[in-house]
Amino acid sequence: MSHAWGYCAENGPEKWAKDFPLADGPRQSPIDIVPAKASFDAGLKPLCLKYNPSDSIDILNNGHSFQVTFMDDTDSSTLKNGPISGVYRLKQFHFHWGGSDDRGSEHTINGTKYPAELHLVHWNTKYPSFGEAASKPDGLAVVGVFLKIGAENAQLQKVLDTFDAIKMKGNQTAFPNFDPATLLPGCLDYWTYNGSLTTPPLLESVTWIVCKETISVSPAQMARFRGLLFSSQGEAACCMVDNYRPPQPLKGRAVRASFK
Ligand SMILES: [Zn+2]
Repeated sequence: MSHAWGYCAENGPEKWAKDFPLADGPRQSPIDIVPAKASFDAGLKPLCLKYNPSDSIDILNNGHSFQVTFMDDTDSSTLKNGPISGVYRLKQFHFHWGGSDDRGSEHTINGTKYPAELHLVHWNTKYPSFGEAASKPDGLAVVGVFLKIGAENAQLQKVLDTFDAIKMKGNQTAFPNFDPATLLPGCLDYWTYNGSLTTPPLLESVTWIVCKETISVSPAQMARFRGLLFSSQGEAACCMVDNYRPPQPLKGRAVRASFK
């Protein structure tokens, strides 16, 4: 009997290809970004992010990570420009992190791992819904931001302060009036490449936008992430750690930089 996918030995990233053959596809994510091999593209525009704090709805432990979900029935919180054309709406953001501070990010830079990575997920409004967009080559745009150990991050703390209410898989609580722009670094220089979802079904629909500049997180804040559980109520407690997929083969793809 096959278990649902996860991040443990028996159901982790090395096993995903069995149920999701796209795991070995031509444009899988994450990747190791080698800055010296990325080409500066003067045609890449600055990112235009417009987020409305009143669109944030709730926060959910989905058993793989936790996510903050946004209202996406109008063009109220959007991503435009950068490497994409048209209007993409914010759907949710979530994180990936490690069991210790020496690992946890999905993308790596010259092989360097960060303790966590934030993903802001947007969908292309040329399609009728997130669900339809998620399988199209230009359906999604995800902004990735690395977290680096440093000062306590007060904006991030607002998210972490909900964790007592979403400790177990399936727990959900209201999370109104949060501005996700407060989690972004001051400089929005980025690398971009064509990739995929990093969780099953691993659909090859993501324009990745990985920020060069990191945001800070304190060691105590990282410890808070690790207090969440993969498990649901009544199951043996299993700490939510190392919920990241390692870098995948580049397979000839170009990585472009918005900066010199
Ligand atoms: Zn992610």
